[in-house]
Amino acid sequence: MSEKKSAPKTAAPKIAAPILPDYVFRWTAGKDPTAPAAIAKFFDSAPIRVLKERMCDIGRRMWQREYTDGNGGNLTVRVGDNLFLTTQTLISKGFMTPETIALVDGTGQQLAGKFKRTSECLTHLAIYRAQPSARATCHAHPVHATAFAVAGLQPPVGMIPEAEVFLGKIGLAPYFTPGTPELAAAVGDAAKRGHYSILMVNHGVITWGEHIEDAYWKMENTESYCKTVYIAKTLGAPLGTINATQMRDLINLRKSLGMADPRETRADKQLLDNSEFFGAFNPKTASKR
Ligand SMILES: [Zn+2]
Repeated sequence: MSEKKSAPKTAAPKIAAPILPDYVFRWTAGKDPTAPAAIAKFFDSAPIRVLKERMCDIGRRMWQREYTDGNGGNLTVRVGDNLFLTTQTLISKGFMTPETIALVDGTGQQLAGKFKRTSECLTHLAIYRAQPSARATCHAHPVHATAFAVAGLQPPVGMIPEAEVFLGKIGLAPYFTPGTPELAAAVGDAAKRGHYSILMVNHGVITWGEHIEDAYWKMENTESYCKTVYIAKTLGAPLGTINATQMRDLINLRKSLGMADPRETRADKQLLDNSEFFGAFNPKTASKR
């Protein structure tokens, strides 16, 4: 008879929570520098220098992934009650240096930086006014998402879980000349309706988040989603979606990650309403812009 040997007792491995980079910039409310010398000191402070480097890094990643061409695209980061870092005008996002980053107030007036800020920062600033939780914005012209914008097509919902959790429904803002108050107002409205990623018709994409990496991830998510939907549509077979219960699970997951989703109060039928998207391919129902 063999004696039953008990398995040697080993301590369960300790599994640490992932260490995520803390990219959120925090400031003390009501303490924005206002005197020119104080602004200059703040603009050259160590935490701001880190942010400028990070903006250059994100710019490189956008350019390498062909999300921008020429001098397209721009980035901003909120660094105070009324202070925002922004990329300069007419510069390739792939080759920025920290010296090219500018500081503006909430009206777009430049407060620091050697080079003129991008005119498109007015559009970015509208997002901060519409969504006080916005801490950074990212604008680019990635090919597939911009193709949806040219077609005036809001991407369908319920096709890929990651897009539902990290983007929610992608928004659509009507066309206005870039850099104008009209475009800023249209994008601000879309952000107010709860869209974290907004297609600007006949132009490109703008996303926002809790820090610049987060805003940029939403740009990647948007482009990947649009690219996948585009390729799936060319296969010719009907496109599948998840069901309403599965969709609610994803919306709850999204909420648990701190992202509000206005869809949570909607009826099941409205949750997966892709009639506008599919209607655009039907000559009988397609509406002319
Ligand atoms: Zn643009």
